[in-house]
Amino acid sequence: MNAEIIAVGSELLLGQITNTNAKFISGQLSELGINVYYHTVVGDNQARLVEAIKIAEQRADLIIFSGGLGPTKDDLTKETIAKHLGRELVMEDVALHAIEQFFNKRNRVMTENNRKQALVLDGCDVLTNHHGMAPGMLLKEANRFYMLLPGPPKELEPMFQFEAKPKLAALLHDGGVIVSHVLRFYGIGEAELEVRVQHILDEQTNPTVAPLAADGEVTLRITAKAATEQEAYILIEEKKREILAIVGEYHYGVNDDSLASKLVDMLLENKLTIAAAESLTAGLFQSELAEISGVSSVLVGGVVTYTEQAKTEQLGISAHVIDQYGVVSSECAAEMASKVREKFGTDIGVGLTGVAGPGSHDGQPAGTVWVGISIGDNLPLTYRLQLSGARNTNRLRAVKFTFSYLMRELSKLGYKKL
Ligand code: ATP
Repeated sequence: MNAEIIAVGSELLLGQITNTNAKFISGQLSELGINVYYHTVVGDNQARLVEAIKIAEQRADLIIFSGGLGPTKDDLTKETIAKHLGRELVMEDVALHAIEQFFNKRNRVMTENNRKQALVLDGCDVLTNHHGMAPGMLLKEANRFYMLLPGPPKELEPMFQFEAKPKLAALLHDGGVIVSHVLRFYGIGEAELEVRVQHILDEQTNPTVAPLAADGEVTLRITAKAATEQEAYILIEEKKREILAIVGEYHYGVNDDSLASKLVDMLLENKLTIAAAESLTAGLFQSELAEISGVSSVLVGGVVTYTEQAKTEQLGISAHVIDQYGVVSSECAAEMASKVREKFGTDIGVGLTGVAGPGSHDGQPAGTVWVGISIGDNLPLTYRLQLSGARNTNRLRAVKFTFSYLMRELSKLGYKKL
């Protein structure tokens, strides 16, 4: 099956909003193994929408519409499709009742145009909207499927995941299931990962394995088709073992895991506390950790020591280190890590110093970063990074690499990784 997504809305064409619905739906369809060949965007204009539908009908088996299901005059998606397919619009009682209740509960008058939201295409499968008023629809016409979804992402996303996706999966596989599992890697480039697992990518049938790179990370999505979920997981596990035997050292998590969440899990599991002294990242390391709930049991605090003076005054970095090696050096990063660990009385201290860019500093090129890690009484160790992104990309990458280095070093010391 191949699909085309038609996002309807003049706001999209005017540059007022980004077409995140198309991105979301494409991601979901790829999990089902449905190819998306085209994204179309069209304004709230009946003639141009019909034109877009006619084009899509020539090249897609499944056409998914987002937007234009609301109560106002410019919401014309279902009216246009009804006319185009020669189908009636009929009142959907459950949706109408939900809309009436919505207004009753809030003591607000329901205007006539709100009833319009409960109209659906005759003969369609209704997709319930649990987060808004307009129901979605799935219908078949001449061997082609049409799916209509509401525009607001907070309505569209759960409707797709919980209402539409199971129906599509059933259509595709006669009751079989498709299960996807994402393996996450850090510290290895997409090209190198692909080369190392090339034979697996080449020979794949079921499960399929698809690489994707984003934000300095690489993922491999394993998708298995089977009669039951359990059978699909068995296929996935086999493939996962095969992949991890080759590139397991870079693997840090699965599905929605992030480097920060995995590090926090590991620190919690081993009852370890952490503090950070940050120069080029200026608090980003701590801020990224603080996005994870439960971090207060592990993150004690930290300091931003941006200038040389701050490094000396706040942390007591020795003049000898600064004079002899400079602030962007292995020695400075190691001392920052040890000093911040002592200052906050934590198990782990982290020091981040470097040149975010775009210019060079202290004779060091942009993108040079030193990461210091001090764990308990062990000698502090350092990592050098040579990054090549823009300023803020370098700052974020430095933080992510530090998360992965910390997990690696803790594992080497025998701490349990979750
Ligand atoms: P409503 O009942 O809110 O009118 P609708 O189904 O008619 O919903 P639209 O009116 O087209 O949808 O869009 C409503 C809002 O949904 C837009 O203002 C925008 O915030 C969001 N939206 C619409 N289309 C998209 C899209 N393709 N990607 C992301 N957001 C979108």
